[in-house]
Parts: sequence; C-alpha cells; structure tokens
Amino acid sequence: MDIYSDDPGLASTVSERFCAPDADLIIRSSDGILFKVHRQNLAAHSEAFFSASLISSTSTDESGPTEAATSKGISQEDIVEFTEDSKTLDLLLQFMYRQRQPNITNLKYSQLMALAEAAEKYEVYAAMGTCVAVFESKFIDSNSLGIFKFARKHGYPNLVDKTAPRVLHRSEDLQKSALVDLRLRWHTYFDRCVPIVWKEFIDLLDSSPCSCRSWPKTETLILRVVGGKPHALMNRACLDDKSLQTTPACCTKALANIRTALKKKLLADATLPTFSSINDDYSF
Ligand SMILES: [Zn+2]
Repeated sequence: MDIYSDDPGLASTVSERFCAPDADLIIRSSDGILFKVHRQNLAAHSEAFFSASLISSTSTDESGPTEAATSKGISQEDIVEFTEDSKTLDLLLQFMYRQRQPNITNLKYSQLMALAEAAEKYEVYAAMGTCVAVFESKFIDSNSLGIFKFARKHGYPNLVDKTAPRVLHRSEDLQKSALVDLRLRWHTYFDRCVPIVWKEFIDLLDSSPCSCRSWPKTETLILRVVGGKPHALMNRACLDDKSLQTTPACCTKALANIRTALKKKLLADATLPTFSSINDDYSF
C-alpha cells in the first residue's frame, strides 16, 4: 500500500513483514520501502543501528521522536532514511527480532555481501557471524577476491588465510589496491608463496606425466605458458591458453589433473605461509 502519497516523491510501499501497528519508528530503504519497527528491538540488538536511526531522524519536535511517535502516532518526520536497500534491511531487521533467524544460505553473492557489509556497519552480531559462515561454505572458491578483501577489512584472520591462496592468480588486482598496507603485505606474501608454488608444480609435473609420446613437447609448452607464473594455475582459465589447444587430449587431461593436484596441495594447511603471519617487517 502507498502512504504519504500526497507528495509523489515520497510515495512508498510498506514492508509486508515489518508493518506493526504499534511501531514507533519508520525506516525507509534506499529503494523506497518503509519498515515499521520498534525502537526497543533496534536498541537491544544494534546500538549502532539505533544510533543511526536517531541521528538520521528528521523530527523537529522538541519533545523528541519517541514521545512524538507515542503520543501522536508516527509522523512523517519520524521516517528515517537508510542507505541500504529493502532486501538488505528486511534480512537485517529479522536478526533484530525474537524469531527464527532468516535462512540466508540461498542468497546470491551480491545480496549476501550487501547484508554482511550492513551487519558490520551496524554491528548486528548474530548476522555478522552467519554471513561469514555462508561466505566460507558457499562462495570461498567462486568469489575469493571479494571475500578476501571483506575478511581483511573487517578483521576475520581465519577467512583471510583461507582465501589468500585462492587469490594468488589475482595478484595484479591486489597490487592496484588503494590500501598501501594491503599492497605491501600482499607483495611480501606473494613473494614468499611463488617459489613454493613453483616447487610443488615441478614436483607434480615430474611425478604425473602423460604416458604418450607427445608429452615432452607438451611439457615444453606448459612450461612456456606457466613458467613465470605458476600461481596462474589457481585459475582454471590458464589451461585455455591458445598454445595449449593443439596438445593431444590425453596430455590436456594430464595437465588438468596436475592443476587440480596443485590447487589441492596449495590449499592444504601448512603448504604456504598464512597471510596473517605477514607482519609489518616487510621484506623487499
Ligand atoms: Zn598425452
């Protein structure tokens, strides 16, 4: 339903889930959905969210927004604008009410990231932990770089250490980071990892050859493609290099197996140094 539609610019729809008649605060999402909520719940579950709602309140009533809301009903002045979209707020608010937590395991990565960033911003602890768990269980391989940056920004060292080997092939992206501290630490981490990756790669190349007669020629091609950047094998696209397209199918399969084994080895504990072990003594 539309309310406050006297001004077309303010016409909004009320959330079906958060529409309590005894609500004492209305939040408007960035896409214009209104959430009628209870200040008590916000205050109990997220001090930061509650504070944001007070700071953002446009009420001009000297008696304050709470008194104004309870004595006269909620006025338009009690609508608080939030920068998060309605999907994000709908999920985040569910973590602030006494009810089952929402199932967020089916969210798309972008939706989960929006929720996770909002949970960090407003310190909604229940949502924070759940988001991190889903990042790790569902997206750690498909969205390693984004999760690495998120984990580092918000202080999740275990998640940083799990994602760092998975983004070795994205080194150039990380070197462009605006964060000098991240660039320096990454530089040190990368320099320590590459010789280890190279050794593991050569060991696998020697121990798992294709048995066909073309293998020596294929091996030369592989070394030419992968040679200076063995970490590129963390990305499957590396096998699509043009110069490898003429190799026999048996050799292509052998290389794919080597890549899989290398990735498994590099992601195993203790093969590579952990990113969080890189301290401020940057070595150049
Ligand atoms: Zn072969």
